[in-house]
Amino acid sequence: MLLAEARAQVVRHARRLRPDGLVVGTAGNLSVREGGLLAVTPSGVDYDDLTPELVGVHRLDGSPVEAPLPPSSELPFHLAAYDATGAGAVVHTHSPAATAAACLDGLSQLPPVHYYTAMFGGPLRIAPYAVYGSPELAAGVAAALAGGRRGCLLANHGAVTAAAGLPEAYGLALQLEWLCDVYLRTRAAGLPRTLDAGQLEEAAAKLADYGRDPSGS
Ligand code: 13P
Ligand code: ZN
Repeated sequence: MLLAEARAQVVRHARRLRPDGLVVGTAGNLSVREGGLLAVTPSGVDYDDLTPELVGVHRLDGSPVEAPLPPSSELPFHLAAYDATGAGAVVHTHSPAATAAACLDGLSQLPPVHYYTAMFGGPLRIAPYAVYGSPELAAGVAAALAGGRRGCLLANHGAVTAAAGLPEAYGLALQLEWLCDVYLRTRAAGLPRTLDAGQLEEAAAKLADYGRDPSGS
């Protein structure tokens, strides 16, 4: 089986989407890229029924290599995200706070109220609404991730994260949801106080060295 480990990794993370509160039903999708191939969740399949064999392998032009089912309807924006970022994994969720923030009128980016914004390479941009699965949505995602961003919101839809590997991109999806929840709570409680570009750069420099492996390896 092609990309056996990547497909198994996609299944493991896809099965966490619902218990982690990042999607309801069959919403959302995941992919992992290895060289010129990617492994992506099939469209509309219950995550409890997903097996590595059902995770499709496609070329970077979207053509199938080993795919028994139609790929995620969002394959176009996964491909666009790889092209825009050079990432190795992409995660798409409909997590509630991120989706609610993406439904606020008049917002083109999430105001940077918390220093965790720096994890994403800067404020989370909000790609303009376009119907799911469309080339217009893919173009919006590519623009929203341009310049080293590791996440963005999709207006009236959800969120996308991109990172070197799937554990990292999945972790960012959880952090993105937390960040949007904090923003919504702040906004509900009063006037948000935002961080400036210098404060975000300072936090980014510290976060680059944050986290320890206690085994020392
Ligand atoms: P798929 O099941 O086709 O991946 O679609 C889910 C989704 O979130 C569409 O935006
Ligand atoms: Zn979606």
